[in-house]
Amino acid sequence: MSVQNEMKKRRTFAIISHPDAGKTTLTEKFLLFGNLIRESGTVKGKKSGKFATSDWMDIEKQRGISVTSSVMNFPYKDYQVNILDTPGHEDFSEDTYRTLTAVDSVVMIIDGTKGIEAQTLKLFKVCKMRGIPIFTFINKLDREGRDPFDLLDEIEGELGIETYAMNWPVGMGKRFKGILDRQNEQFVQFTGNETETSIPYDEINDHPELAEDETFASAFEELELLDGAGVEFSMDAVQRGEQTPVFFGSALAPFGVRTFFEEFISMAPQPAPRKASGDMISPDKEEFSGFIFKIQANMNPAHRDRVAFVRVCSGKFERGMNVTLDRTGKSIKLAQTQQFVASSRETIQEAYAGDIIGIYDPNVYRIGDTLVEGKETFHFEELPQFPPEVFKKVVVENVMKSKQFKKGLEQLVQEGAIQLFRSLRSDEYIIGAVGQLQYEVFEYRMKNEYNVGVRFEDIGERIPRWLKSDQVDRSKFDDRSLLVKDREENYLALFKNDFSLRWFQDKNPDIDLIDLFEVN
Ligand code: GDP
Repeated sequence: MSVQNEMKKRRTFAIISHPDAGKTTLTEKFLLFGNLIRESGTVKGKKSGKFATSDWMDIEKQRGISVTSSVMNFPYKDYQVNILDTPGHEDFSEDTYRTLTAVDSVVMIIDGTKGIEAQTLKLFKVCKMRGIPIFTFINKLDREGRDPFDLLDEIEGELGIETYAMNWPVGMGKRFKGILDRQNEQFVQFTGNETETSIPYDEINDHPELAEDETFASAFEELELLDGAGVEFSMDAVQRGEQTPVFFGSALAPFGVRTFFEEFISMAPQPAPRKASGDMISPDKEEFSGFIFKIQANMNPAHRDRVAFVRVCSGKFERGMNVTLDRTGKSIKLAQTQQFVASSRETIQEAYAGDIIGIYDPNVYRIGDTLVEGKETFHFEELPQFPPEVFKKVVVENVMKSKQFKKGLEQLVQEGAIQLFRSLRSDEYIIGAVGQLQYEVFEYRMKNEYNVGVRFEDIGERIPRWLKSDQVDRSKFDDRSLLVKDREENYLALFKNDFSLRWFQDKNPDIDLIDLFEVN
């Protein structure tokens, strides 16, 4: 099978949602379609403390959440499906963000009883920033939820993306009857069990119990309103991340899930060319290339191993092949490789653009590294740095251990587990994270891997803004606008709140304050 044919079959995506919107339930249904699991309830879950591959750390077990992002892959019809899991917990970390740099599309689940929630908004911003196509599944139609028009309005207003409803619900909650499938002009009936009967629009009059039903009549009226609004479905706009196809359904029932899955994978993009060193690297290029988007230490505590996750971007990966690491120019033999299938890790022999492989890391890789077959190297565009939201000073408990402390800090920074800053006035270490959980993981790993106890000092939530080095006048910054440097020696100010940010901007209109989300 040629590289080109294999690549075309790949559908690599992540599912994003707010906790409890139904991601686990939907993922599980997808895995059932792929015959990866035999019955529902096997992937779960929060209570039993297991999600797929990622029950590797005590913290996860104690808190019953998945810290790591795992990868699930299976063939479905003519496709090869790769699902990258992102932790649904509020305390997610930069891994979640970075995972989004390794996918070609995203499924966004919205709880129809709630609408858009904080976590969805954060993750959505990253997708938008990177122009990743987004497919929306509005879940829990079997419960009394919000008005569908309101939900679409909210998506358009809050997320700034056009919506196109692929189907339309007929009632909800107890009155839920099914959906009107706009593409195929048919009514798909909800029967309360997994069978879904379809009735073409022009045969509905043969079913008086439907034709005379009030819920049914109002759904048709709503559909007319929708048609009248004149939004055209545009595959181009979807591919550019400017329009999102919206599907209504219920992951639990399940209802509308298989149709959603099939339409999604037929529309979802195959791996696209990626920018590297000023060029575009095509996924059907013969030579293998890929980049590291995540490094995970101690996945197996017994072996103290580190695994680097590689997104394959072109060519064919074969176990045992030699690649060049662009950063050092060194040649490396990739002998120990893994694919991640639900709950096990298997040795992988070959992979193509779109696939994710795990390679053994003898402490030589860094996040963002490019691996290339052959001697002619290039570098895939830098992964963006994500703006931390929580900041804490960190100190070593026992000064005698300062050396290990620095070593641990350095390695965890390299791994991308934390972002490190130094305050200019007092030369203290400040750690930035996108969620509280990152601190717990940091503390745990410092203790267990470097045998160093650490203590945190809260400096409260902060809003980071990067500064241009020629505009930095130290006298203008104080505690409310703490001046620090990041590890690339860029200056930034950590503002106490919106008020101090605005106040500073008013006083110093000629200082540019740069939001990372805008520059990335
Ligand atoms: P996650 O946190 O996003 O992974 O959400 P889960 O899949 O764990 O679902 C959260 C809760 O919502 C669970 O109790 C599910 O059984 C429930 N749930 C998920 N999908 C549906 C649905 O379509 N209808 C209803 N009524 N409940 C659902």
